[in-house]
This record gives sequence, C-alpha cells and structure tokens, in this order.
Amino acid sequence: MRARSAWLSVPLLFALLFQLSCRSRPRIPVVEQTNMAMGTFFTIAIYGDVDADSARAAIAAAFDTIRVVENHTSTNLPESDIARLNRHSGKDFVALWDDLASMLRMATQVSRASGGAFDVTIGAETALWGFEDQPLKPPDSSAVDSCLKLVNYRDLVLEDNRAKLARPGMRVDLGGVAKGWAVDRVFDWLLARGYRDVMVDGGGDFHVASTALTAGQRHVWVRHPRARGQYFARFKLDNGAVATSGDYERFFIWKGVRYHHILDPATGWPARRAVSVTVVGPSTALCDAWATAVFVLGPEEGLRRIRQQKGLEALVVSADSTGLWWTATDSLAQRLEVLDENARFKKVN
Ligand code: ADP
Ligand code: MG
Repeated sequence: MRARSAWLSVPLLFALLFQLSCRSRPRIPVVEQTNMAMGTFFTIAIYGDVDADSARAAIAAAFDTIRVVENHTSTNLPESDIARLNRHSGKDFVALWDDLASMLRMATQVSRASGGAFDVTIGAETALWGFEDQPLKPPDSSAVDSCLKLVNYRDLVLEDNRAKLARPGMRVDLGGVAKGWAVDRVFDWLLARGYRDVMVDGGGDFHVASTALTAGQRHVWVRHPRARGQYFARFKLDNGAVATSGDYERFFIWKGVRYHHILDPATGWPARRAVSVTVVGPSTALCDAWATAVFVLGPEEGLRRIRQQKGLEALVVSADSTGLWWTATDSLAQRLEVLDENARFKKVN
C-alpha cells in the first residue's frame, strides 16, 4: 500500500512532521534551534518580531530544562530518580523531584482511565524485550509471562513527593510519556516568558501556539505507517498538542512477524490492534500517553475511551488482510486530509 502523490515524499525522521506553509505571505521571522535530547531531536522555535538574542537565550534555557527532565526520568542514568525508584522496588519509598511526582500522578491517571492499556509500570516487560538494544528475536514466552506479574500500576504507591513500587523487580518505564512532559514543560515556560507564537517538537510530539502571523498555516503531517518517507494524512493545528505512536518506530521482523515496542500489558506481547495512533489535545504529555493507550486498545475501545476524555481527539490506523483502514473522532475526521487513496475509512461507534 503506497500513497501515490510525489509531493508526499518529504524526507523525515519522525512520526509526525510539523510544517508552516507560508506560500502566500512574506517569510515569517523565526528563532529556532534543534538539539539531541532524551534520545531524539528536539526543536524549539519562536516566531514573530522578537528580540533575537533574548529568544536565543530563552531557547538555550529551555534545552537546559529538557536535560533536567531527562536526568530525572531516564532509566539509563543510574542516579536518576526513576532508576533509584526501580532499584528500591519492594523495599523503600524514594523521594522524587516535584515534576516527576506530578508526571507519575498523571501517568497513573491515564493508566486507570485506559483500563491499564497504558501501564506506567510496564518496565520489567520492556526491559526483557530490550528494544533499545535492537533485539533480533522475541524473548521466551515463559519469561514474558513471569515479567507480566511485575506489571500493575496499582502497585505504584504515590504519597506527595515520594513513591514506592510494591513488589521487588517492578519497574517504572516513562518512555511513553516523559518526552511529551518535557515538551509541555518548556512550552509553558516560554509562554510564561511572554512568547506567543511558539512551537516545541520533541521527536515528533508537538505543542504549538499561533498568533495572527501564523494562524491557519500550520499543518501536522502524519507519517505513513507502511510507506517510508511518505505521509498518511495531514490536518491543520493552530493551538494545542499532538503525539503519535506507531509500530514502525522501533521494531524487528522475526519469522515474518513484526515485533515492536508498544506492549499490551494484558499479554506482555506487542499490541496488534493498530499500526498508528495520533492523539490531539491540550497537553503533549496527555497526547503521548493516550497515543500509547489507544494503540493498545485498538480503534473501537480506544475511540470509546478517548471520547470520555475532555479535549482529546484521535486518529487510528489499522491493518487487515485487505490493507489499511482508518477511523477518527468526529471533529478530527472532518478536518483530516487523508493522503493515502487506498486506505479505507470505517465509522466506529
Ligand atoms: P515513541 O517514544 O517511540 O514515540 P511511544 O510514545 O508510543 O513511542 O512510547 C513507547 C514507549 O512507551 C516504549 O518504548 C516503552 O518505553 C513504553 N511502553 C510500551 N508499551 C507501553 C504500555 N502499554 N504502557 C505504557 N508505556 C509503554
Ligand atoms: Mg506515546
């Protein structure tokens, strides 16, 4: 299945691309910077007639903040709060950075609201699969089963600014939410500094605010889940956040089957009901977590749960034996431009 139009073939790195089209207008002034952080590329851009030196300094400070978030949330850094929390599982409470306590609270709420499809304590299972080390084959099913016993967000005890994992071997994994949290953190801070036309992109998860200068000109491009370098759909977004989860981001093929990094906490195996989920909403952290949740839940149950969440919208792309099909919440479906002419729309109630 391929999207046909040649103009869709834009080079890309991420699940989503954010683009300002300004064909009919003079070039919009922008101060922007891209840096590697949290294992991906972050871009921070401030648009409009601003003092360039101050904007550059603000962006540099924003990158410092992203590094602070990374230092507290990365499981790879032995002294991060999360690494300590995981090391002390089944033993003691661990004191947490304020932001991290809020992040865990939010992640636990999404875990609950998604019926456990998003589970912030999936860490033992994701460590077993080891997607960061580019595995070539799936783990033994007995190992998958025994790790599953260590996954349950209800056993993450949060008390003010401290937390404890109830059972030894349990591990928190913030991979599905920390990037989005970092995006919001610096986005909110830039707005508080008085910037009004801002875009923060954390590896394809965005938060954006527009002014009259840019209104109506920003497009979110959703990457095609099966045609590399092409786009599945696009829609306009002036203000708000968006995140995507896909089975094409980190995966391997073994004996003809695709194994990817979004695991179903009910089974411990890669979730199979969707191939790509994009969530639009008021905060990137929420969109990030819900994109993972809806990916696990699949189109029917996923959209049902999204409709219960105020301000969230979702696009779900799934695959069956005849190809790709898509569904979306009503208002997103109305403004979505699907670029893959072969993909079928299905209404899901
Ligand atoms: P990416 O970070 O590649 O954009 P996602 O935002 O979809 O992808 O998050 C996927 C990451 O979330 C995985 O790499 C893993 O760390 C974590 N994860 C995987 N499955 C789940 C799940 N069911 N619930 C919560 N987190 C998950
Ligand atoms: Mg996510």
